Amino acid sequence: MTNLLSRGRLEVETDLLLGAEEVLLPAGMTVQAAPAVAAASQSPPEPARFDPSLFAATPPKPHARSDAEPPPSPQPSAKPRATPSPSPVAARASESLLPNPLVDRVSAPAASTKAERLALLDQLHARECPHCTTATAHTRLVFGEGNPDAELVFVGEAPGETEDKIGRPFVGRAGEKLDEMIHAMGLRREDVYIANVLKSRPPDNRTPLAHEVDGCGPYLLAQLSVVRPKVIVCLGGPATKLLLATELGITRMRGVFAKVELGRAEGAPFEVPVMPTFHPAYLLRNYTVETRAQVWEDLKKVLTAMGRPIPTRAASRSS
Ligand code: URA
Repeated sequence: MTNLLSRGRLEVETDLLLGAEEVLLPAGMTVQAAPAVAAASQSPPEPARFDPSLFAATPPKPHARSDAEPPPSPQPSAKPRATPSPSPVAARASESLLPNPLVDRVSAPAASTKAERLALLDQLHARECPHCTTATAHTRLVFGEGNPDAELVFVGEAPGETEDKIGRPFVGRAGEKLDEMIHAMGLRREDVYIANVLKSRPPDNRTPLAHEVDGCGPYLLAQLSVVRPKVIVCLGGPATKLLLATELGITRMRGVFAKVELGRAEGAPFEVPVMPTFHPAYLLRNYTVETRAQVWEDLKKVLTAMGRPIPTRAASRSS
């Protein structure tokens, strides 16, 4: 960045709302803009602004998970692969996720509202989850939280250190970045629902293993089928692998909608579009213009799929 600054002229090229709002380019340099960015850049140029604090190097936190391309699991999953394609709907989740008996159990007449069904699922999970009831590395279970009627659900990997202490998802540094992403979309945290693939913190913060995901994953699926959002955002590899039944890494999968089937509704499969994107922890460790632009592009596609406007930078500043 120092080099760019020392080259003098800076151009504001796009409207990244993820903590750093401008992409700074030296004179004469062009970006390969995605269509939405290209359209935005046709508006009259704004005067360049630069807040160095926005680009402060983010010290990488010791974190054993590799959110971009986690190493192959020692217990490879038998689930079928999904292959990304340029089409808007590129893949479907594994049929092996369904039927999910938990869905029927939480639909008991005693639990009539979504909030009640989620509370019942929380209890069932704490009592019965084959992974979390045998895991020993965690302090607290982190079931998930948010608006039971949310149109948008974010699915992360597993609780980290702060989440494990507090018992809530995404409340550490990655959570702050996720909050920024949510606000950049013109939403509030209380509008969305947030959950993880695993509901207990893995030892040393490592990437979840296949058998752990097999044990805890059905509770996530049941959670999603209670909330029934319009769109699901998978944050990072483990969530993408589980929901889209793929072994492909997040770098290959991100940016293209796929679908997950969450059960049946009125006799037909109930399918929800899934957008894989980078995990906020990965974003923090790779805090480059490119990764931020990629995440923002993905989130803009999510907003469009939800039928929501894409906030402008000016609107986000005034709110
Ligand atoms: N990372 C996750 O994947 N989930 C959390 O809840 C926190 C950090």
